[in-house]
Amino acid sequence: MTVALVWFRRDLRLADNPALSAALASHERVVPVYVHAPREEAPWSPGAASRWWLHRSLAALDRDLRSRGSALHVHEGDSLATLRCLAAATDARAVYWNRVYEPAPLARDLRVEQALRAVGVHTRSFNAALLCEPWEITTASNAPYRVFTPYWRNLRARLQPRPPLPAPKHLPTSAVATSTIEALGLLPRIRWDAGLDALWRPGEAGAEAALQRFLDEAIGDYGAARDLPSISGTSRLSPHLHFGEISPMRIAWELERARSDGKERFLRELGWREFSHHLLFHFPDSTDHNLNPAFDRYPWARIAPRRLRRWQQGRTGIPIVDAGMRELWATGWMHNRVRMLVASFLTKNLRHHWLHGARWFWDTLVDADLANNTQGWQWTAGTGVDAAPYFRIFNPVTQGERFDADGNYVRRWVPELAAFDARSIHRPWTDPAALRRSGYPTPLIDLAASRTAALEGYQSLRHANGAS
Ligand code: FAD
Repeated sequence: MTVALVWFRRDLRLADNPALSAALASHERVVPVYVHAPREEAPWSPGAASRWWLHRSLAALDRDLRSRGSALHVHEGDSLATLRCLAAATDARAVYWNRVYEPAPLARDLRVEQALRAVGVHTRSFNAALLCEPWEITTASNAPYRVFTPYWRNLRARLQPRPPLPAPKHLPTSAVATSTIEALGLLPRIRWDAGLDALWRPGEAGAEAALQRFLDEAIGDYGAARDLPSISGTSRLSPHLHFGEISPMRIAWELERARSDGKERFLRELGWREFSHHLLFHFPDSTDHNLNPAFDRYPWARIAPRRLRRWQQGRTGIPIVDAGMRELWATGWMHNRVRMLVASFLTKNLRHHWLHGARWFWDTLVDADLANNTQGWQWTAGTGVDAAPYFRIFNPVTQGERFDADGNYVRRWVPELAAFDARSIHRPWTDPAALRRSGYPTPLIDLAASRTAALEGYQSLRHANGAS
C-alpha cells in the first residue's frame, strides 16, 4: 500500500486542487496535513483577522474531509520536522503541496524539499493559486514587467481557462495522531469577532456561494458598480482567494462561459492580483522597502501616534476616510475605492510612511495578502512601479461626492452624520453648528495645506535626485 501526505497551506479546498488530485492518482492512501508555523512566515505572520478566518476555514476543510471518510491532521511547530515525523509514522513515501509564492514560504519550501528528498521522501509541488506562474510572463527582453497594462495584455493573450479538477468523492486515508484546530489558538481571546461571524462564511462552500451570488446578481453591472462603496457591486471573493478556497482558474472558467458585459473587467481585476504576485516574486524586498528607491529620501513626517490612532479608529474628521476605516474594523474588509482613499490620506495628507498603513491593514483585513497589500500600498503611495505618480493626490471630499453621491456609504458607517444631506455630508465642517451637534470631529488636518506640503516633499525629492 502506498501512502502520500498532502500538505495543505493556502489551498484550503478539495475541488481544483492539483496536489490532492495528483496524490490520489498515484497513491492508495493520502493523509491531509496542516502545519501551523506562523514564525516561518515572519515578519509577515498572519494578523488577527486572518487568524480568525484561518480557524473557520480549517474547520470547514476538516468537515469536508470527514464527509469523505478522511480528516485534517493538524499540527503546530516546525514544518519540516512535522512532515518528517508524519511521513515516518504513516510510512508515506511522498509529500505533495501547492505552491505559495511569498518570500519566506518560498525559501522554507525549498529547504523542506531538499531535506525530504535527502531522506528518500519524494516531493511534488503545483500551481493552484495563480492563472500563470509569476516567472512565466516576461517582457521581450526577458525582464519582469513593471507596468500593468502590457503585463495584462501578455497574460490575457495566453490565458486558456481549463475546466476545474473535480473534488474527490471519497478519500482513503491513514489515520495518525493529530492535534485540534482549537488548540492552535487562532481565535481572539477577547471576542471582537461577532461582526465577522455574521458577515462571512469561510471555506470552500462559502467561496462557491460568493461566486454564484456575484455571477447571478452583480457581474452585469460590475464595470460601473465596482466603484460605488455603498452597494454590493463587487464579488467579495478576496479572502476566499487568499486562503485558496477557490482557484482563480475556476473563476476564469466560469467567466468564459458567462454572458455578461462585466466579465472582461472582472477578469482584469484578477489580472491585478496576478500582477501583484509577479511583482512580489521578482521584487521580494518590496514588502518592506520602496519599489522605487528614489523614495528612500522622501521627507515622511515623523510618526504622530495620536494622528495614526485617529486614522485607525476612523476619527480623522474626513467622512469617507472614517467610513472606510470603520467598515474595516467592523467587517475585516474595505471597498477597493475607499482603500485607495484612506491610503492616500495617510501617506500623502498625513505624510506617514506606507508601512504604517500596510501593517494596520495586515492585522485587520480578513483578506490580508502580502502580494496585494504591498502592491496596493506602494501603488497608492506612489512609491511603486506602476502609473500613479506621487503628485496625483486623491481629494477625499470630491472622491466622496463622486463615488458616494447620495452619502449612503458615509451614513451607514458614520451614523453621527446621518442628518446631513447629500450636499454637505462629505464636507460637514461647512455647517459648524450642525457639526458641533453631531459630535463628529473637525478635520484632523487641512486638506489643501497638507496637499501642498506633500507636493513640496515631492519637489524636494526631485531636486535631491537631480531632476531639473
Ligand atoms: P473584486 O472587485 O470583486 O475583484 C475580484 C478579485 O480581484 C479580488 O477578490 C482580488 O483578488 C482581485 N483584485 C481586485 N482588485 C485588486 C487590486 N487592486 N489589486 C490586486 N488584486 C485585486 N486585496 C487583497 O486581496 N488583499 C489585500 O491585503 C489588499 N490590500 C490592499 C491595500 C490597498 C491600500 C489597496 C488600495 C488595495 C488592496 N487590495 C487588497 C486590493 C483590493 O482592494 C481588494 O482585492 C478588493 O477590494 C477585494 O474585494 P472584492 O473581492 O470584492 O474585489
